[in-house]
Amino acid sequence: MDDSLTVRLLYLLALPLVTLGHELGHAAVPLLRTREPVTVDVGPDFSRPLFQVRAGRLTVVMRRLFFWGGLCIWEGRLTPHQHFWATAGGPLASLLMLGLGAVALVGIRTETVWLVAQIFMILSFGQLVITLWPMRYPTWLLGYAHRESDGAWLLRLWPRRRPA
Ligand SMILES: [Zn+2]
Repeated sequence: MDDSLTVRLLYLLALPLVTLGHELGHAAVPLLRTREPVTVDVGPDFSRPLFQVRAGRLTVVMRRLFFWGGLCIWEGRLTPHQHFWATAGGPLASLLMLGLGAVALVGIRTETVWLVAQIFMILSFGQLVITLWPMRYPTWLLGYAHRESDGAWLLRLWPRRRPA
């Protein structure tokens, strides 16, 4: 079970799931607070869609480069307060997945669960750091170049999150 090909395959399968979890965290507030469509992209928008799933106003697009990040796009207008929580939703979802991984790691002591939980935790933790670190993504990060991280948005929205 712990040969390196299996581990690599598990990482490849876990990556889009962890991204999906993070982006659905962003989608929650716009879905609950607006009546407009919300799109979750798993993979950068320049890569072609493999398939898409629609559930009410939510569309999830799985793209060919599904292992290369993701985006949540909402069309409805959010107040600064709602925008803050929509932005925080992604990192909070990553944190939740990290916590669930830890619970599985402690609670279910089989080799497979350990391996899968560890992979989910490593990816969720990496995602948490990359999205929460306040920065503008570099040019080489194709599909996300010059976009601001969740952390940068949260810092900007923090003073505006309460109505004056
Ligand atoms: Zn995010």
